[in-house]
Amino acid sequence: MKIQENISLGQYTTFQIGGPARFFCNVTTEDELAQAVKFGKKNRLRFFILGGGSNVLISDEGYPGLVIKIELKGVEYKKKGSAVIVSAAAGELWDELVASAVERGLYGIENLSAIPGTVGAAPVQNIGAYGMDVSSSVYKVRAFDRKTMKYVELSNEECCFAYRDSLFLQDRRRYIITRVDFKLTTKGKVNIKYKDVAAYFASRKPPMSEPTLSDVRDAVIDIRWNKLPDWKKWGTAGSFFKNPLVSGRKFKQLQKKYPGIVGYPEPDGRVKVALGWVLDNICEVKGLCHDGAAVYEKQALVIVAKPGAKAGEVVNLAKELMKRVKEKTGIQITGEVEWVN
Ligand SMILES: Cc1cc2nc3c(=O)[nH]c(=O)nc-3n(C[C@H](O)[C@H](O)[C@H](O)COP(=O)(O)OP(=O)(O)OC[C@H]3O[C@@H](n4cnc5c(N)ncnc54)[C@H](O)[C@@H]3O)c2cc1C
Repeated sequence: MKIQENISLGQYTTFQIGGPARFFCNVTTEDELAQAVKFGKKNRLRFFILGGGSNVLISDEGYPGLVIKIELKGVEYKKKGSAVIVSAAAGELWDELVASAVERGLYGIENLSAIPGTVGAAPVQNIGAYGMDVSSSVYKVRAFDRKTMKYVELSNEECCFAYRDSLFLQDRRRYIITRVDFKLTTKGKVNIKYKDVAAYFASRKPPMSEPTLSDVRDAVIDIRWNKLPDWKKWGTAGSFFKNPLVSGRKFKQLQKKYPGIVGYPEPDGRVKVALGWVLDNICEVKGLCHDGAAVYEKQALVIVAKPGAKAGEVVNLAKELMKRVKEKTGIQITGEVEWVN
């Protein structure tokens, strides 16, 4: 394993923004990861774990510590009754895993098609889309625990999953994920209840009432292409903010003021507010830009950056959006994208 110095980080992120890492290494095995952590500890360096760089915004000044890029590869399939345990190394590309699960007729992650990034990062923010969160399929997670300097295996429950949240964010930087096991099934049912997905199948000619697993994957990819920027052309990290959770009472107050406001009730009584709607309809952010950073025209939750844009420009635009939401609704929104500096 080679530790490199002053490596420009922008090239490793979908925002294509960011200064250099003081130290940088690729790790391809668990042993290399342990060596990298030891190097960092010995030299009293801060660490940052990088996957596909699709949920981070790196400062223009770069990162003064050690960036460990996870490149562990390999996927195994093991039958367990009617279920199949898919054990994937953290550096595998998430969407390649989804594609191969769908090809094998395995249900459970198809609605999460076309999300960029790696397998190891999927449990971190409990990725979700189109009515499905990855937490519903995670069986166990193998990770290096930096507190005990040992590998641990965490069950689904121990991962403390919630909406865009998990143990890996709550105890940030403690665990470095090397492998994730997913429990998928050959005897599943597609989940097409989500509004956009249901509308997609209803609008086919003739309407499709019983789409297959691969129809669902194709539909999700199609919907995403029409709604999200092409991250190979634009700098972006997808949704910049989380949809805020508010109390039922607060949501009723907002409904009185803004009758069209969209919200989804949560099992705990809170309501998840559709922030894209708030930004579009209440905060009127369409077309808003700050130098090289702009609100994406088809989805206000997404910030896009022009080639050459600076991290500071994205941050200024994000701050402006946060201010507008606070002024109009009283809600303090939080970022989904991690600020790395
Ligand atoms: C166009 C676009 C669309 C997107 N759509 C969605 C969507 O629909 N739903 C959704 O949930 N997200 C979405 N995202 C966000 C992003 O793709 C996911 O959060 C993804 O899981 C990030 O993976 P990554 O490998 O790129 O992680 P990175 O961006 O490299 O890292 C993200 C975080 O995870 C940590 N991390 C990464 N790997 C590990 C590891 N092995 N162990 C411990 N910590 C680790 C990092 O330290 C960092 O805190 C989108 C992003 C883009 C650009």
